[in-house]
Amino acid sequence: MHIDVDKCIGCGLCIPYCPVGAISLENNKAHIDYDKCLECGTCGRTRVVRCPKGAIIEEESVYQWPRSIRKYFSDPMAYHPETRVPGRGTEEVKTNDVTGRVRKGMVGIAVEMGRPCLGTTFTDVEKVTKALVEAGVTKFEKDNPLTYLMVEPEKGTFSDEAKQARVVSCIIEFTIPANSLGKTLTTLKKVAREIETVFSLDLISRCEEEEDGIEVPVTRQLEAMGFTVRPNAKINLGLGRPLKEV
Ligand code: SF4
Ligand code: SF4
Repeated sequence: MHIDVDKCIGCGLCIPYCPVGAISLENNKAHIDYDKCLECGTCGRTRVVRCPKGAIIEEESVYQWPRSIRKYFSDPMAYHPETRVPGRGTEEVKTNDVTGRVRKGMVGIAVEMGRPCLGTTFTDVEKVTKALVEAGVTKFEKDNPLTYLMVEPEKGTFSDEAKQARVVSCIIEFTIPANSLGKTLTTLKKVAREIETVFSLDLISRCEEEEDGIEVPVTRQLEAMGFTVRPNAKINLGLGRPLKEV
């Protein structure tokens, strides 16, 4: 984002809206720290920040590589060119009845890097993806823009240029056989101590009919590992779906 200093009157109205404190006043003009700015677009939204002089401007260069990494992963209004999905750029499991991403016997995992509220670099993302590969994850979700950024997806690595990028959040997404859940979670717990940010973890599992009723099969395993489980149903009632056998 860019400030037109000829228009800015230094009122300071825009400053509290920046989630990363990138805007300050210098010589009675707003100034954006280019390194801190994640290109989330908030300060430039006229319905949010009513800059009295229209001095906050988004330049075309934010859509050019490598600045575009910040833009696409930080601005919820920006559509990733690879997946045509805004925000973090993936439909996750919300469309599982159509895509069949998570099938019987599998567990889907989404590692929401930088959430809550901290942001992440791709250097930290790579630490997590490489650890997962070492723990046996063989394939990251193909319809996720983060996977497109990898130079060697089978190794979970990113280019040096990408690793310089800092973004609000991105999602590492993959599936594993249900019986390797323990190993994967142990790996994630370990690597969580080696990164300079936080992540939230989503586990996606089908409900199965057991003797004593419907249950989420991984629940008991998670509780045995000391996790508190908070089930959250994502149900698509579907008009005759599922289209895919999942
Ligand atoms: S709201 Fe507009 S005029 Fe006020 S400090 Fe920010 S850029 Fe300048
Ligand atoms: S685009 Fe977002 S991160 Fe950048 S200065 Fe504006 S509010 Fe802050």
